[in-house]
This record gives sequence, C-alpha cells and structure tokens, in this order.
Amino acid sequence: MDKRIPIQVSARHIHLSQNDLEVLFGRGYQLKKLRSLVEPEEFAAKETLDIQVSLRKISNVRIIGPVRKNTQVELSHTDGIFLRIELPVRESEDLKKTPGAVLIGPEGRIKIKEGVINAWRHIHCSPKEAKELNFKNGMLASVKTKGICSITFHNVKVQVNKNCRLCMHLDTDEGNAACMVKKGEGYLVDIV
Ligand SMILES: [Zn+2]
Repeated sequence: MDKRIPIQVSARHIHLSQNDLEVLFGRGYQLKKLRSLVEPEEFAAKETLDIQVSLRKISNVRIIGPVRKNTQVELSHTDGIFLRIELPVRESEDLKKTPGAVLIGPEGRIKIKEGVINAWRHIHCSPKEAKELNFKNGMLASVKTKGICSITFHNVKVQVNKNCRLCMHLDTDEGNAACMVKKGEGYLVDIV
C-alpha cells in the first residue's frame, strides 16, 4: 500500500481580516492573487507586510488570501526567537492568549493584541484519500521524511477536506531540520 505523503514547506505568512486589510492598504482594497495553494480557495497574494515587535522587525511577509474573520500571523520558532516572543503551537484560528505584533503596510499600521502563532504541523487530504490511508479528521499521524536528514514528525494533525489533495505542511524550521527546500516527501509510519 502506498503511504507516500507529499510535503510542502510553508514560509511565514499572514492572514488578514477585511478591516485590517483596509487599514493597511487603503479603503476598499482587494488582495491580488500571485499563486494558488493546496488549501481550497486560498492563494498567495502579491501583497506583503512588515511585522514588528518592540524594535525587531521582519520585512516582506507574504499575505495569504482571501480575507478571514480574524487576522493571524504564522511564524517559525526561529522567527519567534528573533522577535523575542514565546510562540505557541496552535491550529489555525485558535488565537486566544497568543502574542500580538504591529503590522506595517503601505497605507497604515495596526497593532494586533493577539494572533501570532506557530501553525500546528498538518496533513491535508480529500475524504477519498483519508479512507485509503485510514485517516479520520483531527487524528494525529507520524510521518518520516526521506533522504540523508531523514526525520520523523509526530503529532501531525489530519485535516480532511473535499477540495484538498494529499499534502503535509511543515514550517521552514521543520523543513530545514529535514534538509528540505520548499518541498519533499515522506511516508506514513504510525497513527496514534
Ligand atoms: Zn496547510
């Protein structure tokens, strides 16, 4: 049975609410699409922002569209160390009691009180793929990467969605630890 899992490495990025988008880019502003992503209907936008915490700043962080209910910043732990914040590992949109930051756009800046997280490593798949792999939505899997820097990632959360195709998402720290640039592959070794 083929238990191969394609892997993509996600760089730091930002999801914005429409209200925050308009503060940062101007009234009535709409994001412009740069490229499509694995998540249904999501896209990398042409627009970027700077993120600042105290005197430390990370520039040109990509925005992911479309707009969402709440603004959310997804960083790696290395970014968190650089910004001197304690970055919690969270599922998307679980933002209670997370650190804030200042977002700086071409037309304005905004201070978010919370919303900065390290995204919980996860696997996207369709219901058909989930059935083939014995996956259930929300369960945790273990995936071993290939190559000389082979590493096993545990607690990988399964996200079943009818518009998704099989793909595991890691952040850049996780990808770097596995000597993986942008993409790679692994295979399923365990289901908890
Ligand atoms: Zn993802």
